[in-house]
Amino acid sequence: MTYSQLDRPVQFLKGVGPKRADAFGRLGIVTARDLLYHVPRRYDDASTVEPIGRLEVGMDATAIGRVRSKGVIPTRKGLRIFQAVLEDETGMITVAWPGQPWLDRKIREGDTLLVTGPVRFFHGRQMQPREVTVVSRGEEPTEPSGRIYVTYPASEDLPQWVLRAVFDRNMDALLAWADDDEYVTREGLARRLPSLSQALTWIHRPERIEQAEQGRRRLAFDELFFLQLVQAQARRAATELDPGIEHVRTNELIRPLHAALPFELTGAQTRVLREIYADMQSPARMSRLLQGDVGSGKTVVALFAMLLAAEGGHQAALMAPTEILAEQHARRMGELLAPLGVDVALVTGSLSASARRAALEGLASGATRLVVGTHALIQEGVVFRSLGLVVVDEQHRFGVRQRMALLERKDVRPDVLAMSATPIPRSLAMALYGDLDLSVLDELPPGRTPVETELRGRDEREAVYDLVRSEVAAGRQAYVVYPLVGESEKVDLLAATDEYERLKTDIFPDRRVGLLHGQFAAATKDQVMRAFLAGEIDVLVTTTVIEVGIDVANASVMVIEHAERFGLAQLHQLRGRVGRGESRGYCVLIADVGQGAFERLEIFRKTTDGFEVARADLRIRGQGDLFGSQQHGKDPVLRFADLMADEDLLVEAQREARALTAADPELAKPENARILAQLRGRYRERIEMYGVG
Ligand code: ADP
Ligand code: MG
Repeated sequence: MTYSQLDRPVQFLKGVGPKRADAFGRLGIVTARDLLYHVPRRYDDASTVEPIGRLEVGMDATAIGRVRSKGVIPTRKGLRIFQAVLEDETGMITVAWPGQPWLDRKIREGDTLLVTGPVRFFHGRQMQPREVTVVSRGEEPTEPSGRIYVTYPASEDLPQWVLRAVFDRNMDALLAWADDDEYVTREGLARRLPSLSQALTWIHRPERIEQAEQGRRRLAFDELFFLQLVQAQARRAATELDPGIEHVRTNELIRPLHAALPFELTGAQTRVLREIYADMQSPARMSRLLQGDVGSGKTVVALFAMLLAAEGGHQAALMAPTEILAEQHARRMGELLAPLGVDVALVTGSLSASARRAALEGLASGATRLVVGTHALIQEGVVFRSLGLVVVDEQHRFGVRQRMALLERKDVRPDVLAMSATPIPRSLAMALYGDLDLSVLDELPPGRTPVETELRGRDEREAVYDLVRSEVAAGRQAYVVYPLVGESEKVDLLAATDEYERLKTDIFPDRRVGLLHGQFAAATKDQVMRAFLAGEIDVLVTTTVIEVGIDVANASVMVIEHAERFGLAQLHQLRGRVGRGESRGYCVLIADVGQGAFERLEIFRKTTDGFEVARADLRIRGQGDLFGSQQHGKDPVLRFADLMADEDLLVEAQREARALTAADPELAKPENARILAQLRGRYRERIEMYGVG
């Protein structure tokens, strides 16, 4: 790695001794580069800063002035008030902080303060600040470059004025060194963005607030670019390093399935299938994520892809997260394929020894062309004659690791299609799964009646029970879901169990009420789910364990208690459990609605579009929460990028990263040395994980 002044410890900067270096360390600032990237948290435009002479009673204003005098004043009621007189060229004003005498130790005569708050009348004009920052101390007060005052994230032992003083003394050098990190060539990446040193200049010393935003976008692009670059390299490792299978399409199976289907494919299904076929027929290995809302028809898409693999003489496997789902897939696929005379084998953990032996023989000999199963499919001892395609249903349930385990097997290089019914905004999907290509089913088959969603208070439970009664009387079934945040939350568990007793004895005494929660043994869970599927239970009291793993067309009511405690995406998954059959589905949210919760649940009530729900979820919860599980190390992967606002940058970053990876996979060319160095600096852990770079 080329050596840069930016790699030196902050202690070598002007005005930083060992003590301050320690204080910087506690803020996470170790090197000069860390300091350069310590960006302001707030910008105040001087045109919105009021000259002190013009402050009037009744205003709520921001002012900047120098402390002329100060002191603590006791009042008769025993309240101690810290007061200071601030002045600028236009005048003076008294500024008061009732009940904060300790400020006397923080603020000195001669300090320059930035204050925001109301101006009141009290022996003349007096400002009572909500916010105060010491922007400079001693020396000359800092003149803002141009007209913008910046405020940095500070700490107890590194107050604003110290940070500013250190920046002021070192800014020119820091900004000059920023060129060492520039990896963008003029004609190359990001033509529309400022250079790194320009961006950092604008961020630290903007002349207009828009410049700070333009600077942020450059740093955001850098983050997204390097994230996409790691993923582009992982994608290359998964798809290109070893050749994949070039599937051959004969239409021998695909055409008869088209003819036999009881419905027309939607436009989205047709489009997505084109994408999948193109991948499978190319020599590169497919690594694709298929996103589609519950009921968008992913299974049929998977089936066609599996037939393409089979036509060309290979085998195809579909992996489901639970045994019941695997059985359901196998049965449905078997029905659709019956006219074609093609069988679907089933491999789960509960096969008898002899059934298992027979199934494995079919896979090893190649007699079995299509197989559906659980993770039992990827265990030791399962050998395929020629596995050409793996479809992973509800891929998020398996986690990255199992997906990897499947891919790491050296004997097989199948194409991979991961499917997810958790719609997430395209930008988040690209950021999280940039190593995969993305296909989206954004259209539901026609003729669906959308699930009707209602929001009810606790005192309206009787009406909800009436709905359940009338649906059950009509021969349908209902879920009542309680929150269960973690397996160990005994309180929640009690709630479901207690409520089960109450519903069974007091509310629906003449109906069959069942209980299912996450702490049941696997076999018991399975038993209860099967009973519900068989219609032997009318009302199932349960937790989020049913989020995936059960598909009961006859269930028409989903009651969710404490709905305010669920995320919107989770509510959407639960709602997807009903309305799958002929009859109308109902989703009733019972909630204690404080104001915030009410708005959130209203958004959910009004839309049945999973992608819209997901965007709202991202907006409300913020990307940190959603992105959190993917983060490595202490620093957030995305400090500057905002996945909602910067989608255009993300698209460009992915395009550039993939183009670069295609042109110089190892980043071995001399002109890419800086990119390689930065990639290593930013993503050491991930690079180790993927073994690239
Ligand atoms: P999901 O995307 O949730 O896995 P499924 O594949 O289970 O959805 O499809 C839901 C239902 O819609 C199934 O009964 C399936 O047969 C049906 N279906 C799929 N595609 C179409 C279509 N194009 N037109 C009508 N019904 C369809
Ligand atoms: Mg499905």
